[in-house]
Amino acid sequence: KPAANEGKATVLKVGTEPSFAPFEFQDEKSKDYVGFDMDLIRAIGKQMGAEVEIQSMGFDGLIPALEAGNIDVAVSGMTITEERAQKVNFSKPYYKSGLTVVVKTGNNTIKGFGDLEGKKIGAQIGTTGAEEAKKIKNAQVREFNTPPEAFMELKAGGVDAVINDKPVNDYFMKETGSKDAQQVGEPLTAEDYGIAMSKKNTELADKINKALDELKQNGEYDKIYEKWFGK
Ligand code: GLN
Repeated sequence: KPAANEGKATVLKVGTEPSFAPFEFQDEKSKDYVGFDMDLIRAIGKQMGAEVEIQSMGFDGLIPALEAGNIDVAVSGMTITEERAQKVNFSKPYYKSGLTVVVKTGNNTIKGFGDLEGKKIGAQIGTTGAEEAKKIKNAQVREFNTPPEAFMELKAGGVDAVINDKPVNDYFMKETGSKDAQQVGEPLTAEDYGIAMSKKNTELADKINKALDELKQNGEYDKIYEKWFGK
């Protein structure tokens, strides 16, 4: 008698916060989750022989969801940090990032991180950007559920600056923001994105890393990279 799950692929439950273009966002027409991370995890799933199921959740809910076993992996432009690594396992780094500052067009006083003392700063909740903002002297930090909400508040004048990941700021400037906003200064940090997993599932980390290595070797990673970031 065949087992109940025979012939069915294993399911890889993926959590993401999909307002982080070009890494994860919702396609307006198809409503599919698209982006660099989404292509990468689908390719990893294929490589592992697993069916990828993507769920949307708040960025600050991803690690709790992993700890509760509600998702298997979080793929969400998540920076590998020491603090997070105490709670979850990370894959090998898969993307190099860093934080930059975005201000309103015509703001001539904020030219980078050095000019943020005492300012109103917006950032996405639970992110490295929010953490850095809180280290700035006398800054009033406002945390938003998503980066687009922080950018809207910048446009409305409710915050003086937004701290967010450079590749996401680059994409925002290119796609929508260049009339209203400008990116200033040098990146503050050098961060590596990793795929986060529950500490209980050590086997999964090995499989994910193996698939990532294979995709780097067979050219698939480069194809996905070029699709979203160019050569
Ligand atoms: N890379 C940042 C972090 O890990 C932001 C991630 C995000 O907003 N999706 O905190």
